[in-house]
Amino acid sequence: MFFFQLEALANALLTDDILKLKGLRRPSCCYLCNDFEESLDHLFFQCPFSQQVWFGLLDQLKDLKLDGTLSICWLDWYEAKLSIILCIVAWFLWISRNQAKFDEIQLVVKGTKTNCTSYIQKLIKHYRFNNICLNYAPNVNENMLPPPLLIYWTPPMPNLLKVNTDGSYSIGDAGIEGVFRNSNGKCLLHFYSPTVALDPLEAEMPNICWAIYIANISKISNLVVEFDSLTCFNILQ
Ligand SMILES: [Zn+2]
Repeated sequence: MFFFQLEALANALLTDDILKLKGLRRPSCCYLCNDFEESLDHLFFQCPFSQQVWFGLLDQLKDLKLDGTLSICWLDWYEAKLSIILCIVAWFLWISRNQAKFDEIQLVVKGTKTNCTSYIQKLIKHYRFNNICLNYAPNVNENMLPPPLLIYWTPPMPNLLKVNTDGSYSIGDAGIEGVFRNSNGKCLLHFYSPTVALDPLEAEMPNICWAIYIANISKISNLVVEFDSLTCFNILQ
């Protein structure tokens, strides 16, 4: 994000207007709105898509207003030591633009806005600046959290293979995954797949069964299965 900011300030981001200056002339169309030529100002400030992201976001931020143009706002925000907000929004707009351009992903304003808000909340949480989000209520016990714990992978004994499995679940989406490694940590086999699950346990349990099934058909008999669900462990016990 820091390098992105440097590039943007030095007019070095490769938007169509900059490419034109470099002699690469071709038809130009903004990937966010499909309506105007792409330029730095349009992309980050004037584009209808960007404007929707901005206005949706400013509703949630205390004391930050979009008076006049963004370039005027920038000075106010800079004085308030909050110009980083501009950088964060521009960064996620840039990511959205690249997803539309290179991955042909259909863009949704809400998605870009959520990315911006989450990132801002993360910075507030880590005390990078005061809470300026209206909808962010920091947990009062945050300061009382135990210190972080270092967790690392331990290799199996030399005559064993270890499979680490993990299921992922969010509403409407679930997946399973597992990695088989030997005592040197070398990955020998890896599987993953989307799956149908109604809760996290339903994503976790078949994953363990798949790991054992795959070990079985691969004639792996000395197997350690490692996973992070105590509920699954208790059921299997
Ligand atoms: Zn546009």
